[in-house]
Amino acid sequence: MNFTETITKAAQQAEIKAEAKLKEIDRLIDENQWKVIEAFQKHQVSDFHFAGSTGYGYNDRGREVLDLVYADIFGAEAGLVRPHFVSGTHTISTALFGCLRPGDELVYITGRPYDTLHKVIGKPADGTGSLQDYGIHYGEVALTSAGKPDWEAIKERLTSRTTMVGIQRSRGYDWRPAFTVEEIGEMVRFVKNLYPGMIVFVDNCYGEFTELLEPTQAGVDLMAGSLIKNPGGGVASGGGYIVGRADLVEKAAYRLTAPGIGGEVGATLGTLRGMYQGLFLAPHTTGQAIKGSVFASAVFEDLGFDTHPRWQDTRTDLIQAIRFTGAEHLIAFVQGIQKASAVDAHVVPEPWDMPGYEHPVIMAAGTFIQGGSLELSADAPIREPYIAYMQGGLTYSHAKLGVLCALQNMVEKGLLQLD
Ligand SMILES: *Cc1c(COP(=O)(O)O)cnc(C)c1O
Repeated sequence: MNFTETITKAAQQAEIKAEAKLKEIDRLIDENQWKVIEAFQKHQVSDFHFAGSTGYGYNDRGREVLDLVYADIFGAEAGLVRPHFVSGTHTISTALFGCLRPGDELVYITGRPYDTLHKVIGKPADGTGSLQDYGIHYGEVALTSAGKPDWEAIKERLTSRTTMVGIQRSRGYDWRPAFTVEEIGEMVRFVKNLYPGMIVFVDNCYGEFTELLEPTQAGVDLMAGSLIKNPGGGVASGGGYIVGRADLVEKAAYRLTAPGIGGEVGATLGTLRGMYQGLFLAPHTTGQAIKGSVFASAVFEDLGFDTHPRWQDTRTDLIQAIRFTGAEHLIAFVQGIQKASAVDAHVVPEPWDMPGYEHPVIMAAGTFIQGGSLELSADAPIREPYIAYMQGGLTYSHAKLGVLCALQNMVEKGLLQLD
């Protein structure tokens, strides 16, 4: 490996500094690994569950058991795990459309949701079939300047006509902390204390297996996530999951397929083995990715950059935000991450207008699964204050090497001076 001496030294120092934190993540992996194994054992997962089905997919035992395994792992009544979800956005959209009706109201209490959800929420009468086009009302309560729930404002905004409260666990493209399961539990108690019948929904993308418990174990009614992030373990080739209260999961299933059909059909074709094996690997892989984020934060902080979270902070998602001083630094960082890939290292990512995003975005994604962001990847919307968001790494080594390649690329371009 031909990193400069200063870069190698910076890496060693960061690892020594963060040693206890990295060990702590190994213990988290052990606990979550056993939780997953126990759920597989309870449902006697066997080779025939991986076979898959065709056509209608009736009596696909592998699909049914995977729903049960997910429900157990997430401490939920029911699960809906399907390759038919095309992305995290589609999964979340299905959960929302499945459970909300015209005249209902959804209020996000963690500020503006993730970019790709803006068009799902839409505008009243926008003609796109968005939530608001269907007459579902929408509101959101901004976070405080410290990135925490604004309790007073939430109390003021919610009414007896609010049907569902939305919470985004991960920071997404925001310079704010992600919400721990404990904090989400606090939000649930606050909301249900005011309105016991309120449905609490969590966008759990990037959160799975980053802690010992999941939001559905802290009172959340419905939750969704993507299989090309944490719970797919880097192996599932696509799909999404919804877990939560059985009646709500059934409504989501009616939306995914058709009323009356729900989750009882849906050919899994050849996808089951990957979803099972990915779930088995997910605690480990998620842990590798978190260790990579801790490392990145430790190194960049030593070099004088602002990072969020800081290396020693408690983590509840994969994302590591690093603030740069200009667009060219951002671009050099992202291009450097790409250079460490096993896949597509020969291509140079450039900013582009991605569907669903409001600013040009540059993405490093040398991944086996297209867009798979449990794999080492970095995204940066090209807008002030020039923050790059990196996440993932199927192995800790790869995440570490990616960070070092990014540093080297910045040094070579004269954008960073070491010593
Ligand atoms: C990734 C993500 C989504 C959307 O997932 P896609 O697969 O990109 O559609 C939604 N919310 C959060 C917090 C995410 O991280």
